[in-house]
Amino acid sequence: MTVRGVLFDVDDTLFAYSACERAGLLRYLAAEGMLEAFGTPDDAVALWHRIMEEEYPRFLAGELTFAGQQVARARRFLAHAGRATSPEQAAAWFAGYREVREEVEAAYGVFPDALPALEALAGRVRLGVVSNSSLPHQCRKLRAVGLLGHFGDALVCSGEHGVAKPDPSIFLAGCAALGLEAYEVAYVGDRYDVDALGARDAGLRAYWLVRDGHGERHGDGHSERQGDGHGERQGDGHGERRGDGHGDGRPDGHTGGHGVGDDGITVIRSLDELVAAVDGGAW
Ligand SMILES: [Mg+2]
Repeated sequence: MTVRGVLFDVDDTLFAYSACERAGLLRYLAAEGMLEAFGTPDDAVALWHRIMEEEYPRFLAGELTFAGQQVARARRFLAHAGRATSPEQAAAWFAGYREVREEVEAAYGVFPDALPALEALAGRVRLGVVSNSSLPHQCRKLRAVGLLGHFGDALVCSGEHGVAKPDPSIFLAGCAALGLEAYEVAYVGDRYDVDALGARDAGLRAYWLVRDGHGERHGDGHSERQGDGHGERQGDGHGERRGDGHGDGRPDGHTGGHGVGDDGITVIRSLDELVAAVDGGAW
């Protein structure tokens, strides 16, 4: 069986979403003189994250527009600081946050192994993206960090596709965008349930990216409602593990190490390991 294409998750796979979100939020709150309003910085980030986990799925489910979920998040967050805001005021506040976060993203938004991996795979396999987000939003981010050009037109986002991962149809839409069958395509993502299980169940070869031992199973009943890029924050040394106490998040039954686990999923610790699999003839 030959893999002829690779589809990537974006947030916390290619793009250091969680770290940028934390750094951007704290920088913005400090600039706005609002940091103390939320207790500690960790409290502020935790609250922002919790609100996102509750509101972002409403976008994924089609209840809110992409901009609408941003307004909803900002209004709830600011209410905790005693600030009642109109939708317009909340949108303006979020726009300020986004501006600061984009500065952070431009500085260190891309994981250092992302571009080398894409360059190593380019010309050998077809490359694309399947993400639970909005297409313009993800294109902007990928363009800002120099990754967008590797994917051609093979970018599928839930906002445009209509349903989100782990629904099989969005993975199959990604395969179709590559012009390949599911069995010819590998999928790489940082979420066990949304990415790895979803891709496997759609018939793709699933790679679960567990960076720095911070992976989580996300199979504890909370994660089904979460979307792309809403895993735990990484890279700041403060990552908190939720869930089921599996340490590095490896689910029961996974053999670990290299190769395909009992669950049909291959764990990799970096995108370098994906390239090594190709170089080593695994495909
Ligand atoms: Mg992700």
